Amino acid sequence: MPCRRTGWLAALLLIVTAPTARAADPLPLPIFDAHLHYNWEPVPYYPMEKVLALFRQQNIMGILATSRPNDGTRALYEAKPKGLWVVPFIRPYRIRADIQTWMDDASIQDLIETEYKRGYYVGIGEFHLSGKAAATKLVKRTVDFAVEKNLYLHAHADDEALEILFAHNPKARIVWAHTGFSTAPEKVAAYLERYPALWCELSYRYGITSDGKLTAEWKALFERYPDRFLLGSDTWINERWDSYGSTMSDYRSWLAQLPKDVAEKIAFGNAERLFRR
Ligand SMILES: [Zn+2]
Repeated sequence: MPCRRTGWLAALLLIVTAPTARAADPLPLPIFDAHLHYNWEPVPYYPMEKVLALFRQQNIMGILATSRPNDGTRALYEAKPKGLWVVPFIRPYRIRADIQTWMDDASIQDLIETEYKRGYYVGIGEFHLSGKAAATKLVKRTVDFAVEKNLYLHAHADDEALEILFAHNPKARIVWAHTGFSTAPEKVAAYLERYPALWCELSYRYGITSDGKLTAEWKALFERYPDRFLLGSDTWINERWDSYGSTMSDYRSWLAQLPKDVAEKIAFGNAERLFRR
């Protein structure tokens, strides 16, 4: 009897493990993670090897890397990890409290300009702005500096702050973190028409799917503006690292409901076009 039972268990185990063990399984759609924080306060939650292994496991081909302070970004970039394209952005924060005050803090401007001298940064952000908080001299200086140095901005901004950023300098190029969280899709479309240098990043974006199915309005938006969307994990707290795999599989499940060329642009093609130098 024990033998029979073991045999039955072994057969069951084979069935359960077979799908993941098949060597011929195609890799999932590559993804560029356009909202990655590798915070370093004072050490990262996941050590470098674990983060790199996670990216490999999830078939992440590149990341828009930021961290608070910038040590994490530098460590990722300077590690030159094989198979991972690191696009570093300057985070204008040293500590978490800077989120609330950076827009009026001249020492943050010094931080940006000093960090920029490393020569490899592609943008500034993610930074947070809500409403008229964007209307300060120092924010305008940040936007002008980005335009002058050919840097992107990665802005966690509400609608009003987004409009103020473009009013500061119409030549700004902005990756809009979270696409306003809940801004109506028609308004997102109007912004995409009005601002040709606006790209929408979709972490935490409300309303894209319902019961796992792409909503009609978001499907239409992606098909109409396939060149204007990016995906992101937003690992702003440790839990986001623990759920990284499910964040990516959620993305892949709705990307699979789009035409292949549209899905590939959103997953990684748009990042290639924007950031490859
Ligand atoms: Zn973020």
